[in-house]
Amino acid sequence: MIGTVVSDAPISEDDGTPARVCVVGNAAIDLTLRVTELPRAGETSLATSTALDFGGKGANQAVIAARAGAHVVLFAATGDDHDGDRIIAMLDAEHIDTSNVVRFACATDLSIVTVDARGENTIVTRNDAAGRYRPDTHAFDRATRRGDWVVLQGNLSAEVTEALLKHAHAHGRRTMFNPGPVGFDCRPLLPHVDVLVVNRIEAATLAQCADPEGASRSLREAGAHDVLVTLGANGVIWCGGDGIQHAQAPRTVAVDTVGAGDAFCGTLVAEIAHGVPIAQALPSAQSVAAFVVAHRGTQSSFPDRATLRELLS
Ligand code: ADP
Repeated sequence: MIGTVVSDAPISEDDGTPARVCVVGNAAIDLTLRVTELPRAGETSLATSTALDFGGKGANQAVIAARAGAHVVLFAATGDDHDGDRIIAMLDAEHIDTSNVVRFACATDLSIVTVDARGENTIVTRNDAAGRYRPDTHAFDRATRRGDWVVLQGNLSAEVTEALLKHAHAHGRRTMFNPGPVGFDCRPLLPHVDVLVVNRIEAATLAQCADPEGASRSLREAGAHDVLVTLGANGVIWCGGDGIQHAQAPRTVAVDTVGAGDAFCGTLVAEIAHGVPIAQALPSAQSVAAFVVAHRGTQSSFPDRATLRELLS
């Protein structure tokens, strides 16, 4: 076993149940257009197919964590419209606690996703609901216990993300931060982060270092307890207490990489909340992410509960 792991044993307050996973993030509808080549600036591409799907990094990570067996509470916002109704019905069907999902008088968040023939993508997001969302910290304190895992991404405002990470960390919750899209300098937040998950581009931007190993070291020195840099088909670099380890990704044919990073984070947090050490949780999270890249869509590409259980066994 390599690395100092913050999560070796399941921590619970008094009822002996595993730690919960509280995701604080966004929920959206994805409109995916498949194209042969991604358009460059000034170009128009003809779509070969279109599809509507459930998405949003927060909801994606919550769904995977729930299917991986975690007790999941979601703090998020949708619009007060039909898309918001559909998202909440979907989350309820996934057995996710939606009692802290709030509704605003605006349209539910929408992402326009383009995917090319190689599975590469671009995403443009409208985040009216996530942008104005301020989670209620009293409700957060009631919904979570010391030792629970709190997962944040980069879709909420910088102030909300900063305040909630600091609050959660100061109150004994363990924190996973997956800051995409990196819209602000979140380095000062890293001392409040137990597990940082960034892809290669986010790592380079945050650390100002193009080399992923160097970036992972720099982000750990900035205060994150464990740093994971995901490298697409090349797997993951883990920088923890015992240095750097490289975990290979399973080989697969990529048809659509949308949601792969979210599937990775959701599985990882569910596993470590159950007391699985990071070293063992990494291959599980990578198998689930590989399944996702081999299938089309955002949440449509996620394995169902039975398949996910098989991937974890
Ligand atoms: P993001 O989706 O956040 O940009 P990555 O592209 O690094 O992040 O992918 C996240 C994880 O998904 C990787 O660490 C890997 O486990 C898995 N993955 C992504 N692309 C592939 C691929 N082509 N083959 C196998 N696994 C992949």
